[in-house]
Amino acid sequence: MGRLLAWRLSRQDLEITLFEAGSLAVPAGACWAAAGMISPLSELVHSEQKIYQLGLRSLALWEPWAAELEALVGRPVSFRRAGSIVVAHGRDRAELPMFVRELQSKLPSDSAADVRPLDRAQLQKLEPALESFETGIFLRDEGDIDNRRLLPVLLESLRQQRVTLREHTAVTCERNTIVTEDAQYHFDCVIDCRGLGAKDAINGLRGVRGEVLVVQTNEVQLQRPVRLLHPRYQLYAVPRSDGSTVIGATEIESEDLSPISVRSTMELSSALYSLHPAFAEARIVESRVNCRPATMDNLPTVHCEPGLVRLNGLYRHGYLLAPALAEQVEKIIAQQLSEVA
Ligand SMILES: Cc1cc2nc3c(=O)[nH]c(=O)nc-3n(C[C@H](O)[C@H](O)[C@H](O)COP(=O)(O)OP(=O)(O)OC[C@H]3O[C@@H](n4cnc5c(N)ncnc54)[C@H](O)[C@@H]3O)c2cc1C
Repeated sequence: MGRLLAWRLSRQDLEITLFEAGSLAVPAGACWAAAGMISPLSELVHSEQKIYQLGLRSLALWEPWAAELEALVGRPVSFRRAGSIVVAHGRDRAELPMFVRELQSKLPSDSAADVRPLDRAQLQKLEPALESFETGIFLRDEGDIDNRRLLPVLLESLRQQRVTLREHTAVTCERNTIVTEDAQYHFDCVIDCRGLGAKDAINGLRGVRGEVLVVQTNEVQLQRPVRLLHPRYQLYAVPRSDGSTVIGATEIESEDLSPISVRSTMELSSALYSLHPAFAEARIVESRVNCRPATMDNLPTVHCEPGLVRLNGLYRHGYLLAPALAEQVEKIIAQQLSEVA
């Protein structure tokens, strides 16, 4: 969130400083662990309409913003708007109509969302690797972005825009003031996007542990994110342009940042294997663990007072919500700066 906002604001005639507690090359936050799905429809089943509305706005913004970043930096961020597919195995087939019913009951009445049931032939055409599934659902209005490409591109964009970067500098955020271990810095406005690092400022902020695996194989290639519905756990698999597939994600009410458990590894791998048996020979090249910053109601919070904006609680929706929230904060900052002037 911090990087995206810094880039957006740096496009205006503003002097920006970005403070980061850890390293800028390998961010310590949830952003680096994430799968980068931008799925307003799939997420609506488990969240409120507000997430869907903000998600749709973000999806519309990612397209031009990704293109602008790529043109500025000259490297891809791999934003893709190819929709996503939801499937369930024969014994869990009832999960699919249930998913559609829940989705439709939560969609706004004027929604033009494209939720398309697929028969076997249609599914095969869209996603040939899913040959063992009889039916599926195609959610056309979904996308994804490769966060492992986006974050370095954003960093490079900040360098090009002459944003002052201070890494390995943990801060607290107050009105017009950033406080570090040995100094205070004064600004027209401070934007606090410290994720879980903002517990001192946001009541009830908690971490929700998530684990993902990254696997590599030449034997099977998906074309777009795929979700597998299962009564006990849910799997998503996100194919990346380097041939790897990110699979996730667990959701555990804990702030434990220790490595992935055997149980999660087994559940994620066996669910992946059930998508296509060729995944059995895939190599696990990475496991990632981090905690999503969440508020008590799992909704994002934008707190605003003169000289200070706090933005947090992006929970499992950082990539889904960041552009829409950045757009809101850009307006707040413009207003605050016009009052200062
Ligand atoms: C396993 C997993 C999978 C996910 N998959 C998805 C997905 O597919 N789609 C999606 O939309 N979202 C996903 N998310 C959620 C997403 O990653 C988060 O919502 C998002 O990263 C939150 O962004 P943020 O900037 O608020 O916090 P973070 O990404 O946690 O970043 C906070 C930053 O603040 C820095 N910081 C902390 N304290 C301080 C301090 N005191 N001083 C200075 N800097 C500080 C941290 O080092 C970090 O760089 C996933 C999360 C996880 C864990």
